[in-house]
Amino acid sequence: MTDTLNFSIPTPKLSSDIYNHIHDMARRFANERIRPRAIELDDTEAFPSDLYEEMAQLGLFGITVPDEFGGAGLDALSYALVMEELSRGYASIADQCGLVELIGTLLSVHGSHAQREKYLADVLAARKRVCYCITEAEAGTDVSGIKTSAQRDGSGWRLSGSKIWIHNAPIADYGYVLARTDPAAGNRGMAIFIVDLSANGVSRGKKEKKMGQRASPVGALHFEDVLLGEEALLGPVNRGFHIMMSVLDKGRIGIGALAVGIAQAGLDAALEYAKTRKQFGKPIAENQGLRWMMADMKKDITAARALVHRAAMTMDAGLPATMDCSIAKCFAGDIAVQHTANAVQIFGGSGYIRGFEVERLYRDAKITQIYEGTNQIQRTIIARELLKA
Ligand SMILES: Cc1cc2nc3c(=O)[nH]c(=O)nc-3n(C[C@H](O)[C@H](O)[C@H](O)COP(=O)(O)OP(=O)(O)OC[C@H]3O[C@@H](n4cnc5c(N)ncnc54)[C@H](O)[C@@H]3O)c2cc1C
Repeated sequence: MTDTLNFSIPTPKLSSDIYNHIHDMARRFANERIRPRAIELDDTEAFPSDLYEEMAQLGLFGITVPDEFGGAGLDALSYALVMEELSRGYASIADQCGLVELIGTLLSVHGSHAQREKYLADVLAARKRVCYCITEAEAGTDVSGIKTSAQRDGSGWRLSGSKIWIHNAPIADYGYVLARTDPAAGNRGMAIFIVDLSANGVSRGKKEKKMGQRASPVGALHFEDVLLGEEALLGPVNRGFHIMMSVLDKGRIGIGALAVGIAQAGLDAALEYAKTRKQFGKPIAENQGLRWMMADMKKDITAARALVHRAAMTMDAGLPATMDCSIAKCFAGDIAVQHTANAVQIFGGSGYIRGFEVERLYRDAKITQIYEGTNQIQRTIIARELLKA
């Protein structure tokens, strides 16, 4: 009996010139425009519209949105490269890029011609702000438990319910809302609606005070008998759950890359500090305990980056990528938390003081284990895919 080895490594789809170009552009923008403002933005929790307008002009929004729809027309690997570099500058800024990518994907892949015409250009140009709305008070990890309902009303729909912890809710123009259309049909009874957040019946909760990534506002949205036309429906009526879950795969590549960016920023800061801070008459970098800590940071960041790139290339090859996306997001989030804590440790007392970059990075890292599906649920997905195989 012969044992055939069916082994393949996903490879990049585009030329290295293209990846280098987009990567260098994101890195330069992060170094020159984002990083110098990160501490101030974390402190003031301001929403830096000017930075987003600049990013839109540079073409850093809608990386995977086809060029005929106004996007950059690149691939998921390019998106991962951009997200890591923006996040190395400040993760809150990368968050906004991720949000536009997610909504851009919803519109370009699942939207009608009329919806793309009406909404996409404004989203990619940062003229209109958007949010995606899944989570509810009683339905976080268990999305199938959502209660927000959309009922037929004449030729349109009537939307009622509440969403919590929605990125951009305090400032968004449009919400992409997952609602239940058929209570008896479980995950097959949901749809996505594009909701104008200035419409009658929409109200916003207060802006939440967050531990980290404080320049991306988060809050609640309430819908009370909001009347929607048929044109508000995005995609087929009972496919909303599956559409949302499919775009979340790309979202997880984005969050994985964002987590790698945070961890890399922590290593950059730790290396610099360890070489210059002296104790016992020598740089603290000469102590083996710290050298091994930094070696472990480098080792794990390299592995996390490779996993993120692998997930992206698998998606770009059109292959099933769900497991790879969950592995990448979960591993990258876990090592970002672990190694930003190590960066704080290398800074000693200074690492615990507000205004030092590593203190912010440690707080910014934690949410990468929670949003876009908690890391427990990523492990559940990995196990499910394993057992399915
Ligand atoms: C800053 C921030 C931004 C966010 N942005 C958005 C957004 O833009 N849009 C949006 O829709 N949502 C958003 N969320 C919500 C986020 O996606 C949820 O918080 C997340 O999915 C977890 O849901 P939960 O908080 O209700 O936790 P729960 O579901 O209550 O889980 C609590 C704990 O139990 C664990 N757990 C639950 N079920 C299982 C299980 N079956 N097996 C093992 N462990 C389990 C979880 O992993 C977690 O550790 C955001 C949240 C935050 C904090």
